[in-house]
Amino acid sequence: MPTLKFLGAIQQVTGSCYLVETTQGKILLECGMYQGELRPEKSPERFFSFDPGTIDAVILSHAHLDHSGLLPKLAREGYRGPVFVTEPTRDLLGVMLKDAAFLQEKDVEWENRIRQRTGKEIIEPLYDMKDAENALGLLKGLGYNQRTQVIPGIELRFRDAGHIIGSAIVELWVDKHGTRTKIVFSGDLGNSFSPLLRDPETLETADILLMESTYGDRDHRNADETLAEFKQVLDTAIEGGGNTFIPAFAVGRTQDLLYHLGKFYRKGVLKQQKVFLDSPMATSVSEIYARHRDLYNNENPEFNKAILRGWENWLPILSYTRTTLESMALNNITSGAIIIAGSGMCTGGRIRHHFKHNLWRSKSHIVFTGFQARGTLGRNLVDGAKQVRFMGQEFAVKAKIHTLGGFSAHAGQSQLLDWAGQFQKKRPHLYLVHGELDKMLALQNKFHEEYNWHANIPASGETIQL
Ligand SMILES: [Zn+2]
Repeated sequence: MPTLKFLGAIQQVTGSCYLVETTQGKILLECGMYQGELRPEKSPERFFSFDPGTIDAVILSHAHLDHSGLLPKLAREGYRGPVFVTEPTRDLLGVMLKDAAFLQEKDVEWENRIRQRTGKEIIEPLYDMKDAENALGLLKGLGYNQRTQVIPGIELRFRDAGHIIGSAIVELWVDKHGTRTKIVFSGDLGNSFSPLLRDPETLETADILLMESTYGDRDHRNADETLAEFKQVLDTAIEGGGNTFIPAFAVGRTQDLLYHLGKFYRKGVLKQQKVFLDSPMATSVSEIYARHRDLYNNENPEFNKAILRGWENWLPILSYTRTTLESMALNNITSGAIIIAGSGMCTGGRIRHHFKHNLWRSKSHIVFTGFQARGTLGRNLVDGAKQVRFMGQEFAVKAKIHTLGGFSAHAGQSQLLDWAGQFQKKRPHLYLVHGELDKMLALQNKFHEEYNWHANIPASGETIQL
């Protein structure tokens, strides 16, 4: 009997991983990295609960590292099979997995310096650049709506999930003794209010449905209100003589922000004179976004036209700071700038350097525009910490912290319910994944109330029969 095993992003939002096993072979759906406090890769024991050499194929829904970031580790441990992704995802991973490998190498180098001084044994990186390159060599880019055989007896089709460029809802048909079971994995479903991308495609049939539940407990704030609030924060920052710092995911959120800032600029209401994209990765990703503009929605013809000649054409006060020196020079600007830097949850990247120089200044404004996982520096700040510790030091938090919920790249509760509600003919067996338990319970309740439909909340390691 074919089975599906829930391995990651179970009652939490990171580390996506599911294993489908049939008599014909094993496929891994997602190979995500953990972020935040629950990071098994930080612990020495092996963290794949299967032998990577026995996997026949891998499928990734999109490029975010919590869905793709352990792929180089899988390659390091012997995986040599195909990795099915959409074409934009393949382009994005080319940037992201190399960046992730670079960070792994740097982290370990730093830690080993300390270890050597204290006489401790040195450690190996989770994976290195060679592993990332090997993993990239395995990628097979597919178009949306193209049906492909993954292994004998399993077919795959990607549908547009509208979450980031190239993001997909995964449809899988699994054969068993002449009958077929259809699995639909929502991946991360986009927020229909996000400005650039299309709405998630609606599907109508499935036997088994795995659905994300990141925002299972609430709807996002209205998009117009969020934009008004964003504008208000920017005005307050400039009136108070400070800078605005926006920790942002390089993929998706950064491009949405550049879009909104460009709109403000073009309306003549943006008072700031400079916007810095202080992230080489976000810069490369933005270029990839511009390349795949055929996947944008048709609601912003002015933007779709402007982007043909690059982001600076849309937002003329935009500068890219590629080098470390250029990034450090931003410390000399004391007011009037908007600085967008990674990482989105402040677990690494240049934003931490900006925080080191600005978190303790009362004139600084920090705008969180994305989900902050438990245990991250970003979550601590959003939760109102007055003192935080990072880069080996304590910092007082005097900066004004703002959280803007409406920018989410994820569907809110009503959008999730509506999307699942399209499966009308026969309600699939529904499993909630990719969400914290309280969010899942809230969504489970809603499914009972609205549809009299039971949403299962699988436990980590649970296996179901297909
Ligand atoms: Zn995502």
